[in-house]
Amino acid sequence: MKHSGRFGQFGGYYVPEVLIPALEELEEAFDRFHEDPAFVAELAQLFRHYAGRPSPLYHAKRFSAHVGFQVYLKREDLLHGGAHKINNSLGQGLLAKYMGKTKLIAETGAGQHGLATAMVGALLGMETKIFMGVTDIERQSVNVHKMRLCGAEVVPVEGGTGTLKDAINDALRYWTANVTDTFYLFGSAAGPHPYPTIVKHFQSCIGTEARQQCLEQAGRLPDLVVACVGGGSNAIGMFAGFVDDKNVRLVGVEAGGKGLETGKHAASLSAGKVGILHGAKAYLLQDENGQVLDTESISAGLDYAAVGPEHCYLKDTGRARYVAAVDDDVLDTFELLTRLEGILPALESTHALAYLAGLQGKLPPTTIAVANLSGRGDKDVGIVEKARNQ
Ligand SMILES: *Cc1c(COP(=O)(O)O)cnc(C)c1O
Repeated sequence: MKHSGRFGQFGGYYVPEVLIPALEELEEAFDRFHEDPAFVAELAQLFRHYAGRPSPLYHAKRFSAHVGFQVYLKREDLLHGGAHKINNSLGQGLLAKYMGKTKLIAETGAGQHGLATAMVGALLGMETKIFMGVTDIERQSVNVHKMRLCGAEVVPVEGGTGTLKDAINDALRYWTANVTDTFYLFGSAAGPHPYPTIVKHFQSCIGTEARQQCLEQAGRLPDLVVACVGGGSNAIGMFAGFVDDKNVRLVGVEAGGKGLETGKHAASLSAGKVGILHGAKAYLLQDENGQVLDTESISAGLDYAAVGPEHCYLKDTGRARYVAAVDDDVLDTFELLTRLEGILPALESTHALAYLAGLQGKLPPTTIAVANLSGRGDKDVGIVEKARNQ
């Protein structure tokens, strides 16, 4: 491999020997095409006319009045498919096409990444298989239907707990045997090199746009930039726009579930130890024997026991700070934003807003915070209702 894929001690590619040629081919293709004028122009067209970029930056005045400082929302919820996931799926899908691959595979947990990939598979006319745990298939039947309508095959994964981690294992295994014609479209800024780098590249439009929009609308850079962290793709894309602006504080918000002390959460950076999962060294929720722990959160999209390696590095260097928001506060904030702004935030994104709500009255009124609204909450209405009726 040409690059080490290391972020400090984190990252790398801890994979079986048979997968190395596939990752090498991917690294080489990304190096070759990501700045190629034809590729850049075609992706820019798709971002604009298919996905709906640039997404707006919206000054949420009533939410700002409530917390006592200025909050701007980066509206990734308005993109096609309802979340930031389409950025990465379009980028990697196009890369697959430029590489001459004819088939796509992807893993999915809640179904959001599977759906974004199924859409891109339809758009590019590529045969698409989505690996999904049997537990998740049952919990997320609407997304399963949508993927099938797009023409994708949903492959049930029986192993383990039938969730995201098992789906990734099976997708990697399938890829090993089918690398010649198949592209593995990985969904977050995690996994083996070169995925963390590739996914960050395709998601960095979030931060680049937000930085410019904030300068235009507020006349200066924000003091604070906040995003939720599952595997870390929307957050790393947002942070990418501001990481060189030393005075901008970066905060990632993980799923605190029922509280870190209960063990029922998905806060890998806040509560994990260094380990290896899905081909990368990262902070990982594991027991004393290194067995991966089950995660729990009200938002399925944050339910991942590990996290992207660059976030681990940003944490250790102190450039970004990571905190956790608990389910109860997330539910309150979901209702708060909806009531004050008429915007239903995805429960994932609501973690970032819950952190800001917790700062109510603690910051000067001129403080500017930019929060990434990574997705829309229509998919979560039933979950919120059920949680409130318990
Ligand atoms: C999948 C998802 C996330 C979590 O994934 P990241 O890779 O951490 O961004 C966050 N928000 C929404 C709306 C999602 O669908």
